[in-house]
Amino acid sequence: MPVYSHSRLGTYETCPLQYKYRYVDRIKKDRETIEAFLGKRVHETLEKLYRDLKVTKMNSLGDLLTFYNDDWRKNWSENVEMIKKDYTAENYRKLGEKCIRDYYRKFYPFDQTRTLGLEQQIFINLDERGEYRLMGFIDRLAQGEDGVLEIHDYKTGQTLPTQEKVDQDRQLALYQIGIQQQWPDVKGVRLVWHYLAFDRQLVSERSPSDLAQVREQTIQVIREVESAKDFPPRESAICPWCEFVDICPLMKHLRKVEVLPVHEYLNETGVTLVNRYAEISTKKNDLVKQMDEELEKIKEALIAYAEKEGVEVVHGSDYKLKIKGKEVYKFPLKDDPRRGALERLVREAGEWEKFSDLNLNALSEAVQSDQLPDALKEKVLKFTDLEKSYRFYLSRLREK
Ligand code: SF4
Repeated sequence: MPVYSHSRLGTYETCPLQYKYRYVDRIKKDRETIEAFLGKRVHETLEKLYRDLKVTKMNSLGDLLTFYNDDWRKNWSENVEMIKKDYTAENYRKLGEKCIRDYYRKFYPFDQTRTLGLEQQIFINLDERGEYRLMGFIDRLAQGEDGVLEIHDYKTGQTLPTQEKVDQDRQLALYQIGIQQQWPDVKGVRLVWHYLAFDRQLVSERSPSDLAQVREQTIQVIREVESAKDFPPRESAICPWCEFVDICPLMKHLRKVEVLPVHEYLNETGVTLVNRYAEISTKKNDLVKQMDEELEKIKEALIAYAEKEGVEVVHGSDYKLKIKGKEVYKFPLKDDPRRGALERLVREAGEWEKFSDLNLNALSEAVQSDQLPDALKEKVLKFTDLEKSYRFYLSRLREK
Protein backbone atom coordinates (compact mmCIF):
# COMPACT_ATOMS: atom_id res chain seq x y z
CA MET A 1 0.00 0.00 0.00
CA PRO A 2 1.42 3.45 -0.85
CA VAL A 3 2.08 6.05 1.83
CA TYR A 4 -0.83 8.43 1.35
CA SER A 5 -1.01 12.14 2.00
CA HIS A 6 -3.88 14.41 2.92
CA SER A 7 -3.79 16.03 -0.51
CA ARG A 8 -3.72 12.66 -2.28
CA LEU A 9 -6.86 11.57 -0.41
CA GLY A 10 -8.41 14.99 -0.97
CA THR A 11 -7.86 14.59 -4.70
CA TYR A 12 -9.76 11.29 -4.70
CA GLU A 13 -12.60 12.82 -2.69
CA THR A 14 -12.84 15.80 -5.03
CA CYS A 15 -12.55 13.92 -8.32
CA PRO A 16 -11.67 10.22 -8.70
CA LEU A 17 -10.58 10.76 -12.31
CA GLN A 18 -8.15 13.50 -11.35
CA TYR A 19 -6.80 11.06 -8.77
CA LYS A 20 -6.35 8.38 -11.40
CA TYR A 21 -4.55 10.70 -13.80
CA ARG A 22 -2.27 12.02 -11.08
CA TYR A 23 -1.52 8.98 -8.92
CA VAL A 24 -2.40 5.84 -10.88
CA ASP A 25 -1.43 6.82 -14.43
CA ARG A 26 1.16 9.28 -13.09
CA ILE A 27 0.57 11.74 -15.91
CA LYS A 28 2.82 14.74 -15.59
CA LYS A 29 1.56 18.13 -16.78
CA ASP A 30 3.59 21.28 -16.81
CA ARG A 31 0.48 23.44 -16.44
CA GLU A 32 0.64 25.69 -13.40
CA THR A 33 -2.09 28.12 -12.43
CA ILE A 34 -1.28 31.62 -11.23
CA GLU A 35 -2.85 30.83 -7.84
CA ALA A 36 -0.50 27.86 -7.31
CA PHE A 37 2.46 29.92 -8.56
CA LEU A 38 1.63 32.76 -6.16
CA GLY A 39 1.23 30.31 -3.26
CA LYS A 40 4.69 28.83 -3.86
CA ARG A 41 6.40 32.23 -4.03
CA VAL A 42 4.79 33.44 -0.78
CA HIS A 43 5.59 30.14 0.98
CA GLU A 44 9.21 30.37 -0.14
CA THR A 45 9.48 33.95 1.10
CA LEU A 46 8.09 33.13 4.55
CA GLU A 47 10.33 30.08 4.68
CA LYS A 48 13.33 32.32 4.01
CA LEU A 49 12.18 34.73 6.75
CA TYR A 50 12.17 31.97 9.40
CA ARG A 51 15.18 30.05 8.01
CA ASP A 52 17.30 33.21 8.35
CA LEU A 53 15.86 33.95 11.80
CA LYS A 54 17.03 30.53 12.99
CA VAL A 55 20.57 31.84 12.51
CA THR A 56 19.66 35.27 13.99
CA LYS A 57 19.45 37.05 10.63
CA MET A 58 16.53 39.46 10.60
CA ASN A 59 15.44 40.40 7.10
CA SER A 60 13.88 43.81 6.65
CA LEU A 61 10.51 43.96 4.90
CA GLY A 62 12.34 45.41 1.89
CA ASP A 63 14.75 42.40 1.84
CA LEU A 64 11.83 40.00 1.83
CA LEU A 65 9.95 41.81 -0.91
CA THR A 66 13.12 41.83 -3.02
CA PHE A 67 13.52 38.10 -2.45
CA TYR A 68 9.85 37.54 -3.35
CA ASN A 69 10.04 39.56 -6.57
CA ASP A 70 13.33 37.92 -7.63
CA ASP A 71 11.81 34.51 -6.92
CA TRP A 72 8.74 35.49 -8.95
CA ARG A 73 10.86 36.61 -11.93
CA LYS A 74 13.19 33.58 -11.82
CA ASN A 75 10.35 31.07 -11.77
CA TRP A 76 7.94 32.81 -14.12
CA SER A 77 7.24 30.90 -17.33
CA GLU A 78 4.79 30.88 -20.20
CA ASN A 79 3.14 27.84 -18.64
CA VAL A 80 1.74 29.84 -15.72
CA GLU A 81 -1.91 30.12 -16.59
CA MET A 82 -4.42 32.82 -15.69
CA ILE A 83 -7.81 31.23 -15.07
CA LYS A 84 -9.76 34.31 -14.01
CA LYS A 85 -9.48 36.45 -17.10
CA ASP A 86 -10.45 39.66 -15.28
CA TYR A 87 -7.13 39.73 -13.44
CA THR A 88 -3.54 40.08 -14.60
CA ALA A 89 -0.36 38.43 -13.37
CA GLU A 90 0.55 41.84 -11.94
CA ASN A 91 -2.60 41.78 -9.78
CA TYR A 92 -1.47 38.45 -8.32
CA ARG A 93 2.14 39.56 -7.83
CA LYS A 94 0.91 42.58 -5.88
CA LEU A 95 -1.42 40.37 -3.84
CA GLY A 96 1.62 38.30 -2.85
CA GLU A 97 3.47 41.47 -1.81
CA LYS A 98 0.46 42.50 0.27
CA CYS A 99 0.32 39.09 1.99
CA ILE A 100 4.01 39.37 2.93
CA ARG A 101 3.76 42.99 4.02
CA ASP A 102 0.71 42.33 6.25
CA TYR A 103 2.30 39.24 7.76
CA TYR A 104 5.56 41.06 8.44
CA ARG A 105 3.86 44.00 10.14
CA LYS A 106 1.63 41.78 12.22
CA PHE A 107 4.30 39.46 13.59
CA TYR A 108 7.50 41.56 13.62
CA PRO A 109 9.89 40.82 15.42
CA PHE A 110 8.68 37.19 15.07
CA ASP A 111 9.45 36.23 18.66
CA GLN A 112 5.98 34.98 19.56
CA THR A 113 7.16 31.40 19.02
CA ARG A 114 10.39 29.47 18.53
CA THR A 115 10.65 27.80 15.12
CA LEU A 116 11.41 24.08 15.35
CA GLY A 117 11.06 23.11 11.72
CA LEU A 118 10.33 24.50 8.26
CA GLU A 119 8.74 22.40 5.54
CA GLN A 120 9.03 19.67 8.15
CA GLN A 121 8.29 16.20 6.83
CA ILE A 122 6.00 14.19 9.07
CA PHE A 123 4.81 10.56 9.01
CA ILE A 124 1.51 9.56 10.56
CA ASN A 125 0.53 6.02 11.58
CA LEU A 126 -3.22 5.72 11.58
CA ASP A 127 -3.43 2.23 13.06
CA GLU A 128 -1.48 0.18 15.58
CA ARG A 129 0.05 -2.09 12.93
CA GLY A 130 1.28 0.80 10.81
CA GLU A 131 -0.67 -0.51 7.83
CA TYR A 132 -2.31 2.82 7.09
CA ARG A 133 0.36 5.50 6.88
CA LEU A 134 0.38 9.08 5.72
CA MET A 135 3.05 11.59 5.01
CA GLY A 136 2.95 15.38 4.92
CA PHE A 137 4.93 18.58 5.17
CA ILE A 138 4.31 21.19 7.85
CA ASP A 139 4.90 24.76 6.65
CA ARG A 140 6.28 25.77 10.06
CA LEU A 141 6.46 23.84 13.31
CA ALA A 142 6.92 26.12 16.30
CA GLN A 143 6.77 26.16 20.08
CA GLY A 144 4.81 28.83 21.93
CA GLU A 145 5.95 30.45 25.17
CA ASP A 146 3.52 28.17 27.04
CA GLY A 147 5.39 25.12 25.71
CA VAL A 148 2.56 24.13 23.35
CA LEU A 149 3.63 23.06 19.85
CA GLU A 150 2.08 24.95 16.97
CA ILE A 151 1.51 23.67 13.47
CA HIS A 152 1.41 26.69 11.14
CA ASP A 153 -0.04 26.58 7.66
CA TYR A 154 0.01 29.46 5.14
CA LYS A 155 -2.89 30.00 2.77
CA THR A 156 -2.96 32.49 -0.07
CA GLY A 157 -6.43 31.54 -1.36
CA GLN A 158 -9.30 33.93 -1.83
CA THR A 159 -11.73 32.24 0.55
CA LEU A 160 -11.72 32.71 4.30
CA PRO A 161 -13.23 29.63 5.98
CA THR A 162 -15.43 29.78 9.04
CA GLN A 163 -14.14 28.70 12.46
CA GLU A 164 -16.44 25.67 12.21
CA LYS A 165 -14.77 24.66 8.96
CA VAL A 166 -11.22 24.91 10.33
CA ASP A 167 -12.32 22.98 13.42
CA GLN A 168 -13.14 20.14 11.03
CA ASP A 169 -10.03 20.46 8.89
CA ARG A 170 -8.37 17.09 8.41
CA GLN A 171 -4.90 18.07 7.22
CA LEU A 172 -3.50 19.77 10.32
CA ALA A 173 -5.31 17.33 12.63
CA LEU A 174 -3.41 14.51 10.88
CA TYR A 175 -0.17 16.41 11.36
CA GLN A 176 -1.01 16.73 15.05
CA ILE A 177 -1.36 12.94 15.26
CA GLY A 178 2.07 12.60 13.63
CA ILE A 179 3.64 15.16 15.98
CA GLN A 180 2.24 13.44 19.06
CA GLN A 181 3.57 10.10 17.80
CA GLN A 182 6.98 11.61 17.19
CA TRP A 183 7.12 13.50 20.54
CA PRO A 184 4.75 11.67 22.92
CA ASP A 185 5.54 14.02 25.80
CA VAL A 186 4.43 17.25 24.05
CA LYS A 187 2.47 19.53 26.34
CA GLY A 188 -0.20 20.26 23.77
CA VAL A 189 -0.66 21.12 20.10
CA ARG A 190 -2.31 24.13 18.47
CA LEU A 191 -3.29 24.24 14.81
CA VAL A 192 -2.75 27.66 13.25
CA TRP A 193 -3.77 28.82 9.78
CA HIS A 194 -2.61 32.11 8.30
CA TYR A 195 -5.11 33.32 5.74
CA LEU A 196 -2.66 35.80 4.34
CA ALA A 197 -4.91 37.50 1.79
CA PHE A 198 -7.23 38.45 4.67
CA ASP A 199 -4.49 39.18 7.24
CA ARG A 200 -6.29 36.71 9.51
CA GLN A 201 -5.05 33.93 11.76
CA LEU A 202 -7.39 31.05 12.67
CA VAL A 203 -6.61 28.63 15.49
CA SER A 204 -8.08 25.25 16.36
CA GLU A 205 -7.39 22.69 19.08
CA ARG A 206 -8.36 19.03 18.95
CA SER A 207 -9.32 16.64 21.72
CA PRO A 208 -8.14 13.00 21.76
CA SER A 209 -11.62 11.91 20.66
CA ASP A 210 -11.55 14.40 17.75
CA LEU A 211 -8.23 12.90 16.67
CA ALA A 212 -9.53 9.33 17.04
CA GLN A 213 -12.39 10.27 14.75
CA VAL A 214 -10.03 11.80 12.19
CA ARG A 215 -7.95 8.60 12.23
CA GLU A 216 -11.02 6.42 11.74
CA GLN A 217 -12.44 8.57 8.92
CA THR A 218 -9.09 8.76 7.16
CA ILE A 219 -8.67 4.95 7.29
CA GLN A 220 -12.14 4.68 5.72
CA VAL A 221 -11.13 7.01 2.88
CA ILE A 222 -7.93 5.01 2.28
CA ARG A 223 -9.94 1.77 2.18
CA GLU A 224 -12.28 3.35 -0.34
CA VAL A 225 -9.37 4.47 -2.52
CA GLU A 226 -7.68 1.07 -2.26
CA SER A 227 -10.82 -0.75 -3.37
CA ALA A 228 -11.78 1.71 -6.13
CA LYS A 229 -12.24 0.13 -9.53
CA ASP A 230 -13.86 3.04 -11.32
CA PHE A 231 -12.54 6.56 -11.30
CA PRO A 232 -15.37 8.68 -12.69
CA PRO A 233 -14.85 12.38 -13.39
CA ARG A 234 -16.63 14.66 -10.93
CA GLU A 235 -17.25 18.13 -12.26
CA SER A 236 -16.92 20.93 -9.72
CA ALA A 237 -15.84 24.55 -9.32
CA ILE A 238 -12.18 23.44 -9.26
CA CYS A 239 -12.25 22.02 -12.81
CA PRO A 240 -10.84 25.17 -14.48
CA TRP A 241 -7.78 24.83 -12.20
CA CYS A 242 -7.27 21.11 -12.90
CA GLU A 243 -4.09 20.28 -14.81
CA PHE A 244 -5.92 17.59 -16.80
CA VAL A 245 -8.57 19.78 -18.45
CA ASP A 246 -7.09 18.99 -21.87
CA ILE A 247 -7.59 15.21 -21.48
CA CYS A 248 -10.60 15.01 -19.13
CA PRO A 249 -13.71 13.84 -21.04
CA LEU A 250 -15.82 16.48 -19.27
CA MET A 251 -13.58 19.41 -20.08
CA LYS A 252 -11.42 18.70 -23.10
CA HIS A 253 -13.93 19.86 -25.70
CA LEU A 254 -14.33 23.21 -23.95
CA ARG A 255 -10.57 23.46 -23.70
CA LYS A 256 -10.26 22.78 -27.42
CA VAL A 257 -12.86 25.27 -28.60
CA GLU A 258 -12.49 28.14 -26.13
CA VAL A 259 -9.28 29.27 -27.81
CA LEU A 260 -10.78 29.31 -31.33
CA PRO A 261 -11.60 32.60 -33.07
CA VAL A 262 -15.36 33.25 -33.05
CA HIS A 263 -16.09 32.13 -36.65
CA GLU A 264 -14.11 28.88 -36.23
CA TYR A 265 -15.72 28.29 -32.85
CA LEU A 266 -19.23 28.61 -34.27
CA ASN A 267 -18.38 26.23 -37.15
CA GLU A 268 -16.71 23.60 -35.02
CA THR A 269 -18.62 20.32 -35.41
CA GLY A 270 -19.32 19.73 -31.70
CA VAL A 271 -20.40 23.34 -31.11
CA THR A 272 -22.69 23.25 -34.16
CA LEU A 273 -24.27 19.94 -33.15
CA VAL A 274 -24.92 20.99 -29.55
CA ASN A 275 -26.35 24.32 -30.65
CA ARG A 276 -28.69 22.54 -33.07
CA TYR A 277 -29.59 19.89 -30.47
CA ALA A 278 -30.39 22.60 -27.90
CA GLU A 279 -32.44 24.56 -30.43
CA ILE A 280 -34.53 21.59 -31.58
CA SER A 281 -34.94 20.08 -28.15
CA THR A 282 -36.00 23.43 -26.62
CA LYS A 283 -38.45 23.97 -29.49
CA LYS A 284 -39.80 20.45 -29.08
CA ASN A 285 -40.25 20.86 -25.31
CA ASP A 286 -42.02 24.21 -25.76
CA LEU A 287 -44.24 22.74 -28.45
CA VAL A 288 -45.09 19.64 -26.41
CA LYS A 289 -45.92 21.82 -23.40
CA GLN A 290 -48.07 24.09 -25.52
CA MET A 291 -49.84 21.11 -27.16
CA ASP A 292 -50.41 19.38 -23.81
CA GLU A 293 -52.00 22.51 -22.37
CA GLU A 294 -54.14 22.88 -25.46
CA LEU A 295 -55.21 19.22 -25.32
CA GLU A 296 -56.14 19.50 -21.64
CA LYS A 297 -58.38 22.48 -22.38
CA ILE A 298 -60.05 20.64 -25.28
CA LYS A 299 -60.56 17.53 -23.12
CA GLU A 300 -62.24 19.58 -20.41
CA ALA A 301 -64.48 21.24 -23.00
CA LEU A 302 -65.32 17.84 -24.57
CA ILE A 303 -66.24 16.29 -21.21
CA ALA A 304 -68.49 19.24 -20.46
CA TYR A 305 -70.02 19.00 -23.94
CA ALA A 306 -70.60 15.21 -23.74
CA GLU A 307 -72.20 15.49 -20.29
CA LYS A 308 -74.41 18.38 -21.35
CA GLU A 309 -75.54 16.57 -24.53
CA GLY A 310 -75.74 13.15 -22.82
CA VAL A 311 -73.51 11.48 -25.49
CA GLU A 312 -70.51 9.14 -25.31
CA VAL A 313 -69.36 9.65 -28.91
CA VAL A 314 -68.75 13.05 -30.49
CA HIS A 315 -68.24 13.32 -34.24
CA GLY A 316 -65.80 15.59 -36.04
CA SER A 317 -65.46 15.79 -39.88
CA ASP A 318 -62.85 13.04 -40.24
CA TYR A 319 -62.72 11.50 -36.74
CA LYS A 320 -65.07 10.47 -34.03
CA LEU A 321 -64.14 10.53 -30.37
CA LYS A 322 -65.43 8.12 -27.74
CA ILE A 323 -65.46 9.62 -24.26
CA LYS A 324 -65.66 7.03 -21.53
CA GLY A 325 -65.92 8.08 -17.91
CA LYS A 326 -64.98 5.51 -15.28
CA GLU A 327 -64.30 5.66 -11.57
CA VAL A 328 -60.88 4.19 -10.76
CA TYR A 329 -59.19 3.47 -7.42
CA LYS A 330 -56.06 5.53 -6.82
CA PHE A 331 -53.73 3.70 -4.46
CA PRO A 332 -51.10 5.59 -2.46
CA LEU A 333 -47.84 6.12 -4.34
CA LYS A 334 -44.38 5.35 -2.89
CA ASP A 335 -43.99 8.67 -1.04
CA ASP A 336 -47.49 8.49 0.51
CA PRO A 337 -47.34 7.73 4.27
CA ARG A 338 -50.22 5.22 3.85
CA ARG A 339 -48.18 3.14 1.40
CA GLY A 340 -46.34 1.13 4.11
CA ALA A 341 -49.58 0.05 5.78
CA LEU A 342 -51.02 -1.03 2.43
CA GLU A 343 -47.94 -3.13 1.62
CA ARG A 344 -48.05 -4.76 5.06
CA LEU A 345 -51.70 -5.58 4.57
CA VAL A 346 -51.08 -7.31 1.22
CA ARG A 347 -48.07 -9.22 2.59
CA GLU A 348 -49.89 -10.39 5.70
CA ALA A 349 -52.75 -11.58 3.52
CA GLY A 350 -50.21 -13.80 1.67
CA GLU A 351 -50.99 -12.04 -1.62
CA TRP A 352 -47.71 -10.19 -2.11
CA GLU A 353 -46.26 -12.48 -4.81
CA LYS A 354 -49.34 -11.94 -6.96
CA PHE A 355 -48.99 -8.17 -7.11
CA SER A 356 -45.26 -7.50 -6.78
CA ASP A 357 -42.89 -7.22 -9.70
CA LEU A 358 -39.11 -7.37 -10.16
CA ASN A 359 -37.68 -3.84 -10.14
CA LEU A 360 -35.32 -4.02 -13.13
CA ASN A 361 -33.92 -0.53 -12.62
CA ALA A 362 -32.92 -1.35 -9.04
CA LEU A 363 -31.44 -4.68 -10.16
CA SER A 364 -29.45 -3.04 -12.94
CA GLU A 365 -28.18 -0.38 -10.50
CA ALA A 366 -27.15 -3.09 -8.00
CA VAL A 367 -25.25 -4.97 -10.72
CA GLN A 368 -23.54 -1.82 -12.01
CA SER A 369 -22.46 -0.70 -8.56
CA ASP A 370 -21.32 -4.16 -7.42
CA GLN A 371 -23.90 -4.50 -4.68
CA LEU A 372 -24.84 -8.11 -5.40
CA PRO A 373 -22.98 -11.14 -4.00
CA ASP A 374 -20.54 -12.34 -6.69
CA ALA A 375 -22.29 -15.70 -7.20
CA LEU A 376 -25.70 -14.08 -7.67
CA LYS A 377 -24.27 -11.40 -9.92
CA GLU A 378 -22.72 -14.04 -12.16
CA LYS A 379 -26.04 -15.85 -12.50
CA VAL A 380 -28.05 -12.67 -13.01
CA LEU A 381 -25.69 -11.49 -15.73
CA LYS A 382 -26.55 -14.56 -17.81
CA PHE A 383 -30.00 -13.02 -18.35
CA THR A 384 -28.64 -9.75 -19.68
CA ASP A 385 -27.58 -8.43 -23.05
CA LEU A 386 -24.88 -5.84 -22.75
CA GLU A 387 -25.52 -2.86 -24.94
CA LYS A 388 -24.19 0.63 -24.83
CA SER A 389 -26.84 3.21 -24.14
CA TYR A 390 -26.46 6.96 -24.28
CA ARG A 391 -28.31 9.58 -22.31
CA PHE A 392 -28.24 13.24 -23.10
CA TYR A 393 -28.34 15.89 -20.38
CA LEU A 394 -28.71 19.35 -21.81
CA SER A 395 -27.92 22.16 -19.38
CA ARG A 396 -27.50 25.86 -19.74
CA LEU A 397 -24.00 27.30 -19.29
CA ARG A 398 -23.52 29.89 -16.61
CA GLU A 399 -23.40 33.50 -17.77
CA LYS A 400 -19.77 34.51 -18.21
S1 SF4 B 1 -11.30 18.63 -15.11
FE1 SF4 B 1 -12.67 18.34 -13.35
S2 SF4 B 1 -13.77 16.43 -13.79
FE2 SF4 B 1 -11.97 16.49 -15.14
S3 SF4 B 1 -10.38 15.39 -14.06
FE3 SF4 B 1 -10.12 17.52 -13.56
S4 SF4 B 1 -11.29 17.83 -11.66
FE4 SF4 B 1 -11.96 15.90 -12.57
